[in-house]
Amino acid sequence: MPKVTETTLEINLEALSSNYNFLKSKLQKKTLFLAVVKAFAYGSDAAVIANFLQKLNVDYFAVAYINEGIALRKAGITTPILVLHPQATNLSLAIKYCLEPSLYTLKILKEFVSIASDLNQKNYPVHIKFNTGLNRLGFESNELDLVVEQLSKTSALKVKSVFSHLAASEDLDEKLFTLNQITLYKSLSNNFVENLGYPVTRHLCNTSGVLNYPEAHFDMVRCGIGLYGYGNTKKESKNLRPIASLKSVISQIHLVSKGNSVGYNRAFMCPQDSKIATIPIGHADGIGRHFGNGAGFVSIGSKKAPIVGNVCMDMIMVDVTNIGCKEGDEVVFFGPKFSAETSAAAANTISYELITGISQRIKREILGERPINT
Ligand SMILES: *Cc1c(COP(=O)(O)O)cnc(C)c1O
Repeated sequence: MPKVTETTLEINLEALSSNYNFLKSKLQKKTLFLAVVKAFAYGSDAAVIANFLQKLNVDYFAVAYINEGIALRKAGITTPILVLHPQATNLSLAIKYCLEPSLYTLKILKEFVSIASDLNQKNYPVHIKFNTGLNRLGFESNELDLVVEQLSKTSALKVKSVFSHLAASEDLDEKLFTLNQITLYKSLSNNFVENLGYPVTRHLCNTSGVLNYPEAHFDMVRCGIGLYGYGNTKKESKNLRPIASLKSVISQIHLVSKGNSVGYNRAFMCPQDSKIATIPIGHADGIGRHFGNGAGFVSIGSKKAPIVGNVCMDMIMVDVTNIGCKEGDEVVFFGPKFSAETSAAAANTISYELITGISQRIKREILGERPINT
């Protein structure tokens, strides 16, 4: 693989296709697959990822906000797109771009009915979300009758799916809680479909739900992190391949003698004569200050160089005293070998936060363009 010459996020589509096939292998044939591509496809490149998965015939996409859905439509995505968290401000744009909103409060439901009616819509696809314990978004169980009543008063909308979201699907210590959520969702969704009077798609599981609760796949699953190569546990991550590698180069090397400091606020004091390398990536790029002062590292060849001192906006400094390297050499933050899960854990965060935070100013390089047929 050619070495990078500037900070680059490499995105490997072959790994994406392998993750997609692995996750699909966990499903029954008839279960639909929704790919979650919110937040620039978890910090990678939503247009590239969605176009690739569209070629692999994924059934659905989900984004968080309407603007993310519009960007996908402009990038050529024709697959249905569920908008998980629309706001009551630009709902007419959802219709203009054929985006399917999740409706989670009576306010947003009524607002959408009114806009869809004004725009002469018939059977416009929407998704109804219930809260089953995450206590984040969704109707409460006791609102079910009201929701059905509102829906049956209008012909502008048609419910495509009823769904909920698990709070701790990756945490087997919370298995009892999750099983209760599954039971509640089952009864809520049955009740809802019965009252509504026509069949709709049911879905509950995110990636860890898919892996840990095969009995709860229902009609569709919603996978994000697994597609990008992380399974939330070491065991599951073994079957997945991180699609993104964050690489950079050494801009400059300083020989700093013992007792001298490195970086802002003189946060690192050299305990010995040291060789310090400066790397062009900083907290503005998503390497937060919590990676500084020894928490995070980069790898150079097979060696680990700790980040010393404070993370700057555009740069970090790493200690390469015991590493043979020179200016221009490649360094790796995370990738298949040093996973974002491990580096995130070292800085007290999770892979989700590290990968979605990689700033848009960093160049994306796409490897392996062609979909592999399944
Ligand atoms: C982000 C999100 C997902 C994807 O979760 P992963 O753990 O990344 O698979 C699924 N459903 C909802 C409602 C989400 O917000």
